[in-house]
This record gives sequence, C-alpha cells and structure tokens, in this order.
Amino acid sequence: MRAAVLHETGQDKLEVLDDVEAVGFGPGRVRVRVRATGLCHSDLSAMNGVLPQPAPFVPGHEGAGEIVEVGEGVRDLKPGDRVVVCWLPACGACAACKRGQTELCLAGFMNAGTPNFKRPAGDVFGFAGTGTFAEEVVVDAGCAVPIPDDVPFDIAALIGCGVTTGLGAALNTADVEAGSSVAVIGCGGVGISAIQGARLKGAAEIVAVDPVASRRESALRFGATKAVAPDGLADAKQQVTAGEGFDYVFEVVGRSATARTAYENTRRGGTLVVVGAGAMDDFLQLNMFELFFDEKRILPSMYGGGDVLRSYERTIALWRAGRIDLAGLITHRVPLADINEALDQMRTGTALRTCIEI
Ligand SMILES: [Zn+2]
Ligand SMILES: [Zn+2]
Repeated sequence: MRAAVLHETGQDKLEVLDDVEAVGFGPGRVRVRVRATGLCHSDLSAMNGVLPQPAPFVPGHEGAGEIVEVGEGVRDLKPGDRVVVCWLPACGACAACKRGQTELCLAGFMNAGTPNFKRPAGDVFGFAGTGTFAEEVVVDAGCAVPIPDDVPFDIAALIGCGVTTGLGAALNTADVEAGSSVAVIGCGGVGISAIQGARLKGAAEIVAVDPVASRRESALRFGATKAVAPDGLADAKQQVTAGEGFDYVFEVVGRSATARTAYENTRRGGTLVVVGAGAMDDFLQLNMFELFFDEKRILPSMYGGGDVLRSYERTIALWRAGRIDLAGLITHRVPLADINEALDQMRTGTALRTCIEI
C-alpha cells in the first residue's frame, strides 16, 4: 500500500512509496483504512528532530477512517465502523487514567520502539505510534474511537489532534473565566481552536498574535477581537489591559522565546497556558523573584488537558450545534501524492490545516 515516508530525521521532503505494509495486526489490534488526515505542526517537529521520533517513519497522527479488520478479543468495533485515530489512547487501568487524567496515560508510548510498517528495505516506524500518512494503519483497538455517521472524515481527523488540543487548553486547562482578557500566541489550527474555546467561555477580549497576515485574518473570523503581529503585542496589551497584562495567555508555538513573551504579557496572578510542543533542549528562564512575587500560574496543557474521549464527544456536540467552526479550519486539501505541497503550506504559514485525502 501507499504511504509517505521520511527516510532520515532532518530531511524536509517525504517520499510517497507503494511498497509499504502496515504490520502488527493481531489480538486486541485493528486495521484502519485511513480516509483523511490533517497535517499537524508536530509532524514537522518530528521530521526536523525537535520532537523525538526514530526514523525512517511515516508522519501523521491526526487521522480518521474505517475499520477493515479487527483482531481477536476486540469487542465494540467491527469492519465498516468509522473511527478517529487517537494517538494517545487511555488504558483505563493506570493511576493517571483512574484519576480521570487520561491525557497523561503512558500506555500508548510503551510500543514506541516497535515499528508500525515495513518495506522490502526494512522496518518503518509510525509517528506517535500511528503514522496516518498511509492508506492503512494497524493500531490498538483503544486508538480507534468510533464517531457518529454525521461527522465527515476530514472533520473527524482534526478532532484527533489539533482541535482537541486547542479547544481543551481553553475549556479544560485554563477554564477561561467569562469577561476575561485572553491573548493567543501562534494562530495555526491549534491556536484558532484555543480562540474558539476562549470565545465559547465568554472571554471579553481575545487578542490573536501571529506573524502571518492570513492567519491574523482567520483569527478574527474565528472569534478574536483583535489580531496583531508579534511586534504589536505590547500596544495591544496597553490598549486592552491598560498595561497590566492579560488574564490568560496561550503559548501555541512551542519555543522558550515565545513562552517567555507569553509569561511577560500575563498579568500578575494571571495564567500562562503552555500548549505548544517544544524541544527537550530548549529551556524557559524564569527568575525566582518573579516566580513567587508575580504569582502567575503556569499551566501546561497536554492534548487538551482533559479526558480524551469526553473531549471528542464535547467537540462533536459543539460542532453539531454550530457553536464551533471546524470545516473553516481546513484551508487546503491535497491528495497523498502531493504531501510535500502540504508541508510547504504549513511551513510558510498559509494553511490553518491542510487535509490530506487518502
Ligand atoms: Zn492509563
Ligand atoms: Zn498534533
């Protein structure tokens, strides 16, 4: 079958190959025919080595499709079922799961060293244990979450990562208070989802910060009350908060420099929400005086910071009721054969989300 493969970490192009096979089918596992997958910024971060990922690998972790085969012992799923691919499945049995923090379950990472694909040339991994830039993936049954028939595959794919991450950061992690002031730094698909979440919670002011003009325009359409380039943030802070700083600042880039900016633009006693996925060797500096004296809360948000399945259901309910716009996040569509175009659209910041049709 066909899949897009990165041969070595650091390369910037994928090769679409026909000789890839999804491996690992057996008891407790399912085979999924991928129909749509979004390109998430983390895919690029895995390709360039910011996020740890053995190579060669098939990127893609934000996907949806149909079950084609179920392994022994799999109940609740059957061929033909429509599913979201969840890259962070909950085992239901560990301490984190029992506390209801299924986003912290590590069970899905236990297979991280196991290849998901093979080619005549050798083993191939799947990013985050999935690898949805492929016609088929084999995953644990817990990674295939059924979706209602009225949710199209392209929308379902977004729920698999970006939307859950951004929306959850506002709804679960920050639990934004009505009437508050919010700034969101980084307005791709995840940042826009955080903006939609802040709007749902009744934030009075939402300032979108992004260097790309088209993203700033999008942010305004999705509920931001103001959109500025990074060098306009100081003025926006002055206008919106009289210089005090925002009640909530979301860092949706994943770099210490933007996290530091976000910290400085959070008011004393306010909340910095760290959403971006950054590198292990990128350190955020805070001095011990400001840390205690300014009493700013730093809240990291992993995959939306809440129960994953509950987050999916809530997103679908909000989408169905027309309270959030998911279709509008898909600004570009390409077939798998043109995957490198999608990578360029992400790198130049012209896309919120590119849907790759498989
Ligand atoms: Zn668990
Ligand atoms: Zn992602």
